[in-house]
Amino acid sequence: MYDFIIIGGGILGMSTAMQLIEAYPDKRILLVEKESGPARHQTGHNSGVIHAGVYYTPGSLKARFCLEGNRATKAFCDTHGIAYESCGKLLVATNEVEMQRMQALWERTAANGLEREWLDADQLREREPNITGQGGIFVPASGIVDYRQVTAKMAEVFQNAGGEIRYAAPVTALEERSEEIVVTTDQGTFTTRHLVSCSGLMADRVVRMLGVTPEFSICPFRGEYYRLPPEHNRIVNHLIYPIPDPSMPFLGVHLTRMIDGSVTVGPNAVLALKREGYRKRDVSFGDLAAMAGDPGIRKVLRANLKPGLHEMKNSLFKGGYLEEVRKYCPRLTRDDLRPYPAGVRAQAVAKDGKMIDDFLFVNTRRSVNVCNAPSPAATSAIPIGAHIVDQVKALVDG
Ligand SMILES: Cc1cc2nc3c(=O)[nH]c(=O)nc-3n(C[C@H](O)[C@H](O)[C@H](O)COP(=O)(O)OP(=O)(O)OC[C@H]3O[C@@H](n4cnc5c(N)ncnc54)[C@H](O)[C@@H]3O)c2cc1C
Repeated sequence: MYDFIIIGGGILGMSTAMQLIEAYPDKRILLVEKESGPARHQTGHNSGVIHAGVYYTPGSLKARFCLEGNRATKAFCDTHGIAYESCGKLLVATNEVEMQRMQALWERTAANGLEREWLDADQLREREPNITGQGGIFVPASGIVDYRQVTAKMAEVFQNAGGEIRYAAPVTALEERSEEIVVTTDQGTFTTRHLVSCSGLMADRVVRMLGVTPEFSICPFRGEYYRLPPEHNRIVNHLIYPIPDPSMPFLGVHLTRMIDGSVTVGPNAVLALKREGYRKRDVSFGDLAAMAGDPGIRKVLRANLKPGLHEMKNSLFKGGYLEEVRKYCPRLTRDDLRPYPAGVRAQAVAKDGKMIDDFLFVNTRRSVNVCNAPSPAATSAIPIGAHIVDQVKALVDG
């Protein structure tokens, strides 16, 4: 019998495991992951940005955990010798509408307690000679890191403290009883007093295994990237982001300096036809049927038909994608967009057709389940893990 079992070897599962064993050093803790190593899904396919907390509704979990997570991630990297860079981020407005939205973001950054600087067009050009815009906001705390390295280190810390990890162990069934939860995997059946699920793109299916009918469904959105050729590795000094459309949950195609020195362009946001489908041609008829049968997802797709089709067109035609980034970086050409692997985001959608904005947890008597943890959840992984440990303590002491 285990005291705790954690499902999911992404950054949230590993962060929780690492902090749970620190809180309960004498307990038996097992983490089960269906893939053959850590960070094989969202955590290993993201932009690698340590967000500062620009966009999030003041007072939300996202705003709080992102701010704390920015500092905690950098401190974790300092302690464990993981490379990161506080390169700062520039939000660039390219027209009058975006200038107005930028003003609203400026106020939001103040409410979220961020250090930032307002730049006019000349100051913008001075800082970033290859970027054009009417103005910008500079946020110095944003940074870059490789979240695969962070996750692998968290796994190591957990194992060194006596935690067990089983890879290639997909959980296929769960049964919550009065005194324990029975966890069935391809590597055998285990019992545990308490369970934590950090299963990302499969969050709703894991909750269902516990006998709970979730009030949401996971809608997968592929984020497609390109990488610039090495001669453009110094094309920008900071991370360059457009001013996002507040009605959309994604941040828009950005220029991201990666910790390996390269620069990526992306990600866009296209409906994925398979939950863990990283290539355009990946289709799961089971996943498609589930989406088609889900009233919330149908409503989201209907309400976002126009932007959805626009994203799909730019996914299929490189010229359209290029135009998105040429709005603020006009010197890029079609040849500059080289292939780079895509990621798939897990976005929870409520039954009424709203995309759930904040981080969401669903608890049962013996389990804590992370149900919505999109960006900035990699940045926020350490405070999210601490929050889960607090919830577990409440169940244990319950
Ligand atoms: C394109 C893209 C760009 C992003 N950019 C950023 C960024 O720059 N900064 C940022 O902070 N965030 C970013 N994010 C968000 C961030 O990557 C995610 O929020 C974060 O990685 C979520 O971590 P996780 O552990 O919940 O999920 P995951 O990393 O997806 O891990 C979930 C794990 O659960 C496992 N699992 C699922 N079901 C089972 C089962 N039945 N049995 C066993 N194991 C199971 C999966 O195999 C997987 O390994 C981005 C995301 C994407 C997709």
